[in-house]
Amino acid sequence: MRQTTWMDRPTADRPPGRPPTAVPFFDLHAQTKALEADLVQAMLDVAQSGVYILGPRVTAFEEAFAAFVGAQHCVGVNSGTSALHLALICAGVKPGDEVITTPLSFVATTWAISYVGARPVFVDVDPTTFTLDPSQVERSITARTRAILPVHLYGQPADLGPLLNLGRDHGIPVIEDAAQAHGARLGNDGVGSLGLCGCFSFYPGKNLGALGEAGAVTTNDPAIAGRLRSLRNHAQTERYHHAELGFNARMEAMQGAILELKLRHLERWIEARRALAARYQAQLAGLPLQLPVEANGRRHVWHLFSVLHPERGRIRQELEARGIETGMHYPVPIHLQAAYANLNHTPGSFPESERVASCCLSLPLFPEMTEAQQDRVIQALHEILTCKSEDGEPR
Ligand SMILES: *Cc1c(COP(=O)(O)O)cnc(C)c1O
Repeated sequence: MRQTTWMDRPTADRPPGRPPTAVPFFDLHAQTKALEADLVQAMLDVAQSGVYILGPRVTAFEEAFAAFVGAQHCVGVNSGTSALHLALICAGVKPGDEVITTPLSFVATTWAISYVGARPVFVDVDPTTFTLDPSQVERSITARTRAILPVHLYGQPADLGPLLNLGRDHGIPVIEDAAQAHGARLGNDGVGSLGLCGCFSFYPGKNLGALGEAGAVTTNDPAIAGRLRSLRNHAQTERYHHAELGFNARMEAMQGAILELKLRHLERWIEARRALAARYQAQLAGLPLQLPVEANGRRHVWHLFSVLHPERGRIRQELEARGIETGMHYPVPIHLQAAYANLNHTPGSFPESERVASCCLSLPLFPEMTEAQQDRVIQALHEILTCKSEDGEPR
């Protein structure tokens, strides 16, 4: 029999009154456990090496991840938020500048714009892909626009072709927020290899997750790669000499070693996500839900499978009652966050983003999810959405 180890721990206690979880939203523990022996060895190696920050294990991961993305360089940092922040500095965004982005994202996309003192200028999303609508971007470009920051939301590549063309015409760099889209592609090009910089997060719940905080910036520009390496390490040119305002945004050796190991499995995990997404699409097709799609010529990596329904709250509750966890990404669009009240946006400013925010429901999807688990979700949705009202009509 297999020995019990420190990774065998019971699942967390649930709050009283909640049904036992039949289908979790995701299960990080399953992945950690499957790689347990290798992870323990990697962590022990780092502990014994005496190099805990940056060093050869971070370099090895950076090289492997650059190759995976198809970019010339990768610079490991301590979070996706830092990746975005440092990338915007390298793009030359300064106080008073404007950066065009989407209001439908995790708020960190916009934090980075604020950290450099620039103003986020929101443009609404496309109603089927939920990514920045390029046809609305041009009219938002002003003399102060210094960058365009699209998000590859839920793992779907944003429509970068027209954005890169606009950027070229106006001399404005495109910075990709690829925090949810490791391995996503436009044609044959990996996301993160097309803009001036690609910004990745390895937050544990992302498609490639560290066992802690981590992020990375990819770029094809050697000067930017060099500046990023300096900026993340206090802008140190030589010991105790600092060229500009620097940051502590270094990647830990432990996370580098863990990520390098996990990266070897990422393609397989993406394929598992794609198979589950295809199954959801086929088996939920007849229901009154707006299903997510994979746009033509783009490879979606299904970080999230988010359906839309005007009664999202009721469906969420009824799934919860059946032990099925769901998520909402994101229930409040960024332009309506209290933190951005100073931008004076009102409801109605970005109708598609607001519609997604009020109707979105993310279904469980993770590489280790079994078909039996997924069948429970599918079955439950059929029950909930085709139940008859009193006059016998489906509601
Ligand atoms: C997770 C995420 C980030 C932030 O990454 P952290 O590693 O948590 O700092 C930024 N943008 C998007 C779209 C994300 O999903």
